[in-house]
Amino acid sequence: MSVVLITGASRGIGAACARAFAKAGFDVAVNYNRSQEKAESLTRELSGFGVKAIAVQADVSDGASVRRMFSAVKASLGAVDILINNAGISHVGLMTDMTDDDWNTLLQTNLSSVFYCCKSALPDMIRAHNGVIVNVASMWGEVGASCEAAYSAAKAGVIGLTKALAKEVGPSGVRVNAVSPGVVMTDMMKSFSDEDVAALKDETPLMTLGTPEDIAEAVLYLASDKARFITGQVLSVNGGMVI
Ligand code: NAP
Repeated sequence: MSVVLITGASRGIGAACARAFAKAGFDVAVNYNRSQEKAESLTRELSGFGVKAIAVQADVSDGASVRRMFSAVKASLGAVDILINNAGISHVGLMTDMTDDDWNTLLQTNLSSVFYCCKSALPDMIRAHNGVIVNVASMWGEVGASCEAAYSAAKAGVIGLTKALAKEVGPSGVRVNAVSPGVVMTDMMKSFSDEDVAALKDETPLMTLGTPEDIAEAVLYLASDKARFITGQVLSVNGGMVI
């Protein structure tokens, strides 16, 4: 196992995953959509760990873009051994105010992207009888969030896909798991006021919010051989907010 592709790795949880995998000695493909400078500066940082790192642009909500990304990664690093489906967006608001476009964009970005990436990664993994997929879900996919119906639906879909695909490709030597984060302080939380963030902290049994590194450690564990007997599972990393 040596090549990991992480979607949405230019910032936040994905960037923390990229650092964790590079430190562990993996070659890393850093996917970005818009944040080219951040992705390129991250790959320079990752090279400092003595691994190969490339930045690769793709809009994961678009199947053709994903297929081009996989070809580019294979040409420079080789076949993908570990796929981390992390890219995602949020949408907060009443469901009755959502347009069809809002709904479709969210579902394409957070759920169809996982289908496109898994479909591209699996043939090489199955051929090698070796591969790992870790999907980044959300606690809202487990229990639902008010004013985040599309997000919750997409993440519940990611959890369902994780379980189904684990059954389908387990006999072919591929493990598929999900990490389900609670509240993690990244750009995604920027629209929340200080009062909202304080309230979320109060609702969390461990009385603290998560860091991107907390999630990256769980992703790295599930991708590692230490988790060789674990597939189809959802590892909740949420400070106890959802139990
Ligand atoms: P973030 O800081 O907002 O970063 C989002 C990342 O996704 C960026 O790297 C962005 O790339 C990428 N991205 C967005 N749309 C994309 C597209 N169409 N194609 C390719 N990349 C795309 O978010 P985050 O908090 O790290 O979230 C990462 C994952 O964790 C998401 O799936 C999110 O739903 C999940 N999550 C987050 C939290 C939380 O509290 N933060 C909680 C539960 C689950 P560019 O900047 O290059 O466009």
